[in-house]
Amino acid sequence: MNVHEFQAKQLLSKYGVAVPPGEVCDSPESAKRVGDQFFNKGASMVVVKSQIHAGGRGKGTFKSGFRGGVKLCKSADEVFENARGMLGNVLVTKQTGPEGRLVSKVLVEMAREIQKELYVAVLLDRTISRPILMASTEGGMDIEEVAAKTPEKIVKEAIDPALGMMPYQARKVAAALGLKGDLLNQAAKLLQGIYRTWWECDATLVEINPFCVVLSNDGKAALLAVDAKLSLDDNALYRHPDLQAMRDLAEEAPLETAASKFNLNYIKLDGTIACLVNGAGLAMATMDIIQHFGGRPANFLDVGGGASQEQVAAAFQIILQDPNVKGILVNIFGGIMDCDVIAKGIVAAVKQTGLQLPLVVRLEGNNVAAGKKTLADSDLTIIGADSMADAAQKVVHAVAKG
Ligand code: GDP
Ligand code: MG
Repeated sequence: MNVHEFQAKQLLSKYGVAVPPGEVCDSPESAKRVGDQFFNKGASMVVVKSQIHAGGRGKGTFKSGFRGGVKLCKSADEVFENARGMLGNVLVTKQTGPEGRLVSKVLVEMAREIQKELYVAVLLDRTISRPILMASTEGGMDIEEVAAKTPEKIVKEAIDPALGMMPYQARKVAAALGLKGDLLNQAAKLLQGIYRTWWECDATLVEINPFCVVLSNDGKAALLAVDAKLSLDDNALYRHPDLQAMRDLAEEAPLETAASKFNLNYIKLDGTIACLVNGAGLAMATMDIIQHFGGRPANFLDVGGGASQEQVAAAFQIILQDPNVKGILVNIFGGIMDCDVIAKGIVAAVKQTGLQLPLVVRLEGNNVAAGKKTLADSDLTIIGADSMADAAQKVVHAVAKG
């Protein structure tokens, strides 16, 4: 699960990370009011930031033609105009895909003059089974690009989860970022706060890009998390009711949300052949074999180890809401699962949905004979298959025939 920038900043601030003062607004009027307050307090600039679960907003463009999802303003009127340009409009960035995301909230913040943009992230390095602190002097840019072109500009520090981030590690990374004196000490404290946020929230990623050296009001340099991205581990969410409350369903794919209600693991893809499979490994293999025989999978769908009739029916409903689907492949290996339960689920679902598309079913394993009989006795046009290759070829062929 991802959270919005303003939520990530609330959490970071709780763990001692300096973030700019700001307020989230859902109308141009309230944005203007907040902007006014900041200018009255002596701010020379205010920034208006679209709140969507995607980065690259600064360089993004709205479908309305309005340019920029992050805008610096010199007056409250500018804050109003920019908030009006963003709210209720769809922002397209490098990360949203062409369909973009609807902006229904903006974050209005006191902006500072930026002297240096750095990059900081904490994530899990699976190859060494440890969290790492990753940092770079090349902030504000796409980190993937930095990694590809100038990998030497990225520093990594592995952290022992039992000890947490040690002060010397934070100082070492801060020094590698070129920070000195008071800034180095500040950075060390903030880096530890960033790590603590990652750890305490059970996050998979905390990314601060840019992590900035700014000029504070008294003319001194200070460090500030200007942008923040926080991804949480879904498997640990049950431990964090406060984080669960931050969930924004409008940011999640509607079919994926519907699937999660039935404990189905569904991910929409852009092909034409829908798959209904038990087990993530078999689901991956099924997608591969469809591709191998020249087809393109419309989704990944794992109904789990012990799917019920209701889950199978729900899976069909969800699959069929994707208008690109031209055929369905059911590939079930009955280990724990009784093939006959699946077969009954399929028959019920086909009748319920009045399915017209070609449907290929490959069942194997526990009680398979009864399952096959249920399908054969149903009078429905179901194409049976004996192996995965056979099933994949049949569905690719049926879809090609149209
Ligand atoms: P992103 O494009 O979605 O990653 O959004 P960011 O929050 O990173 O903003 C994009 C860019 O806008 C940053 O890299 C900064 O250069 C600029 N920006 C954002 N906030 C401020 C601010 O408070 N002051 C200044 N001077 N620039 C800012
Ligand atoms: Mg950014």
